[in-house]
Amino acid sequence: MTRQQIRSYLEFYRDLGIDAIYNQRPAKEPGLPAESSAVLPTFAPPGDTLQSILADMGDCRRCKLCEGRRTIVFGSGNERASLVFVGEGPGADEDEQGLPFVGRAGQLLTQMIDNTAAKEGIPIRRSDVYICNVVKCRPPENRTPLPDEMEICGQFLFRQLMAIKPKAICALGSTAMKALLNTKDGITKSRGKWHKWRKIPVMVTYHPSYLLRQYNQVARREAWEDLKTLLHFVYD
Ligand code: SF4
Repeated sequence: MTRQQIRSYLEFYRDLGIDAIYNQRPAKEPGLPAESSAVLPTFAPPGDTLQSILADMGDCRRCKLCEGRRTIVFGSGNERASLVFVGEGPGADEDEQGLPFVGRAGQLLTQMIDNTAAKEGIPIRRSDVYICNVVKCRPPENRTPLPDEMEICGQFLFRQLMAIKPKAICALGSTAMKALLNTKDGITKSRGKWHKWRKIPVMVTYHPSYLLRQYNQVARREAWEDLKTLLHFVYD
C-alpha cells in the first residue's frame, strides 16, 4: 500500500470519528494472547444517513480521481428505496450534471426500469429506486476505475447501501459486481443469478453502456430477463 493510500484510509476512519487504530502485535510468548485484539471497525457508524455520508465526503480528495472531476456524483433517487442500482462511475454527462446515469446509458436504464415495470404490472418508475456508482468521480477518458480507487471510494458506496438497507441490489456490469462480490468470475457467468452482499441479495446484470452496442441483442434480452426477475423479487 502506498503512503497516499494509507493516508486516505486513515482520513476515512477519522471522518467516522475513529481516532486510533491499532496493529495487532504477536504475543510475546507462545500461548499468550496477542497484545492487541483491536480490529478495524465496521465502516458505517451507527445512525449513518446519506446526508452524513455526503457531509463526510465533502470536497473529497481521497483518491486521484478527484484531479479530473468537475462534480462528485453521489447518487440520486428514493433514499428509502427497496432497490438500489450500482454502476461503475460517472461519465462526461454525469460529471457535468452531478447526477448518475443521465447520459445515453442512463436513458437506456430509465427505459429498462420504467418499461419492464409497466409491462410486468409493477407500479414503480426510475424515481422510486436509488442509483449510484462504485466511484463518485469521473475516471479520465472514462477508463475503468483502478482497484485502489474502487477500494477507497467503495467505502462510501458500502455506507450508502447500509444506510438505505434495500431489499435487493442490482450490480450493473463487472466493476460493480467486483466491488460488491469480490469475485474473479466474469459477468456472463455471474449475471442472472442471485448473490449476496452482507446478507442483501444482489442480482448481477450487464451495464447499460454495454447494451447500447448494436451487436448486443442477445445481451439485451438477457438483461431484460434479469430485470424482470429482480423487480418481481423486490416488489411482488
Ligand atoms: S472517487 Fe471517491 S474517493 Fe476518489 S476523490 Fe472521488 S469521491 Fe473521493
